[in-house]
Amino acid sequence: MGRTFRPISRGPVPRHRYPMIVITLRCRNLHEFEGWFASSEAYADQRAKGLVSCPSCGDAQITRLPAAAYIGTGTAAPEGKREVDSAAAAVAAQVGEAIDTLRKIVARTENVGSRFPEEARKIHYGEAPKRDIRGKASREEAQELEEEGIDVFPLPLVPDDETH
Ligand SMILES: [Zn+2]
Repeated sequence: MGRTFRPISRGPVPRHRYPMIVITLRCRNLHEFEGWFASSEAYADQRAKGLVSCPSCGDAQITRLPAAAYIGTGTAAPEGKREVDSAAAAVAAQVGEAIDTLRKIVARTENVGSRFPEEARKIHYGEAPKRDIRGKASREEAQELEEEGIDVFPLPLVPDDETH
């Protein structure tokens, strides 16, 4: 029978070309070991076929321990990976905050579209009511505004709401 399952319990993390999940498993004799699988489905499939067995006693009645599973890329040890995960979570939180801030800016600014440089100048020189606006400006236009002392903030990916 071709064994596609290779348990590892100690030693360096093998390098994989593709991301693998590491599942911590336990046999009926309470031996704990790790199995590397392409996916949860691959584990379930191999387990159903009796291909997953305990490296210590050969028992194929394997229980999956849910908490210890993580995504392995073959380049990071479990501890390091957890740090990467929390860093990724922090970045995700920051991105979430940035999107939130962007939504607030969009909500309280008037979209003046391509009239942005013109409107920004009018507001700056008191020719138009003071208000927060957003719109489009070329790099050169934005630079000219800044040289005139007008604060311009580039907004990434502002939703196109010019139809309202
Ligand atoms: Zn065992």
